[in-house]
Amino acid sequence: LLQVDNVVKYYGGLKALKGASFNLMPGETLAIVGESGSGKSTLARTLLRLEEPNSGRALYKGRDLFAMSPAELFEIRREIQMVFQDPTQSLNPRMRVEQLISEAWAIHPDLLPRAQWSERVAQLLVQVGLLPEHAQRYPHQFSGGQRQRIAIARALAMSPELIICDEAVSALDVSIQAQVVELLDDLRRNLNLSYIFIAHDLPVVRDFADRVIVMQNGEIVEIGTVEQIFNNPQQAYTRDLLAASL
Ligand code: ATP
Ligand code: MG
Repeated sequence: LLQVDNVVKYYGGLKALKGASFNLMPGETLAIVGESGSGKSTLARTLLRLEEPNSGRALYKGRDLFAMSPAELFEIRREIQMVFQDPTQSLNPRMRVEQLISEAWAIHPDLLPRAQWSERVAQLLVQVGLLPEHAQRYPHQFSGGQRQRIAIARALAMSPELIICDEAVSALDVSIQAQVVELLDDLRRNLNLSYIFIAHDLPVVRDFADRVIVMQNGEIVEIGTVEQIFNNPQQAYTRDLLAASL
């Protein structure tokens, strides 16, 4: 689905990505772990051109994300959705849930005729484990875990193929984390989604991911299956990371 080659990103004099390369298979959940400041968010944001890369290539279904016209990028930002740690970043506090979710169809009118919006909102809310009547509430009237479910429903409204979760469950209690991850996992199976799942929390990664990328200081130092990374890590850095999470 995604083939990333040697992506370099500078912030001024700081080389935040030192040539990142990896592949993502269709239907795969690829986790990205690494300590704070290692470049995980920068990698995700650069792929979506929220940050401009300095060099490299990123082929999404064969088309280079770094060479796209604004019109192509507009379509890609529908197909590739992002869910952040803090839902308040993406959920306008003055909008009811119904409007927050329907925005997708206002931006991309081809997705769904207006007459079907409210029915589809109700469906999406149920799909993420909320209730149809929640459509009339505002974001502040929900718990953290519920807000993250709304952010997920909003992403699903775009009919994405890939969802990039940047610490999407990191701020939640462990038991709520597990529930949200289980939801993501169910959605993957039902909707044929792929995930790039950025996380601090290694137990969650172990349950959810297929493969794991380990980042250190702007570099990918190790890529492997969950099995390899957790049971037979090759790098001292990976071993330290695992030890720190026990
Ligand atoms: P965390 O786990 O804390 O979210 P991260 O792995 O996502 O960390 P990044 O946010 O990608 O790390 O940051 C990588 C490096 O780039 C850090 O040194 C950070 O200070 C720097 N950086 C990130 N964003 C910017 C920016 N907009 N301008 C300048 N420097 C930045
Ligand atoms: Mg980050």
